[in-house]
Amino acid sequence: MSDIVATKALIVPAAGSGSRLKKETPKPFLELSGTTILEHTVCKFLPLTNLRQILVATSEEFLDRAQAILDEITPPNISAICLTGGNERQHSIYNALKKVGDIDLVMVHDAVRPFVRLEHIRKCCKIAYEDGGAVLGVPVKDTIKRVDDRKVIRETPSRKYLWQTQTPQIFRKELLVKAYEKAFREKFLGTDDASLVERLGVNVRMVQGDRSNFKITYPLDLKLAQLLIEQKN
Ligand code: C5P
Repeated sequence: MSDIVATKALIVPAAGSGSRLKKETPKPFLELSGTTILEHTVCKFLPLTNLRQILVATSEEFLDRAQAILDEITPPNISAICLTGGNERQHSIYNALKKVGDIDLVMVHDAVRPFVRLEHIRKCCKIAYEDGGAVLGVPVKDTIKRVDDRKVIRETPSRKYLWQTQTPQIFRKELLVKAYEKAFREKFLGTDDASLVERLGVNVRMVQGDRSNFKITYPLDLKLAQLLIEQKN
């Protein structure tokens, strides 16, 4: 699939503590085959047409490291900046969003999803440009239960309409800014970007990706990531 001409900014939240992985170093700065996960991830977006800005939100401690990684891989026509993240993913992204310039599309992509495919990013960009917002995801494979505080099952929703959401989550800039401002005013905290845009009453489209775009979260995910990278080399 060819690329749309819209100007693009990439926001990469990379300020998580990595506590679920039980490692000292935050996940984006762990290496797979000698290259940081952050670098693997950002490189996937570099071939996009009209990519103008890359913004990486990280903890104070890793700002210099992240900037050095970006400076090494980013061509001179793309502005690459690192900034301090917040306590929650949403805060990290909001900090970055405030620094996005005059851009058509903002792509938000987790630093810890290095296996995203370029064709899927392009497809999301195209649909987001046409419709306002698009996110990558896959249909759920397990049956999902809703439980109460005592873990008693209260509902078994039909799998037909359930999707597991990934990133990138891509939006027209003005829409995403409006959504983040509303969430900030109303103290709403979501676990993804689409949930903030949905609150504007705007339709966000789901785009089918694949399961290789998993989020490196637990030790098993890291092992799988290592295996996949070794296989490719
Ligand atoms: O915590 P979660 O698994 O949802 O994290 C997804 C992404 O958000 C990771 O890349 C992580 O580094 C980032 N994050 C962040 N700021 C936080 C928490 C998570 O940038 N406060």
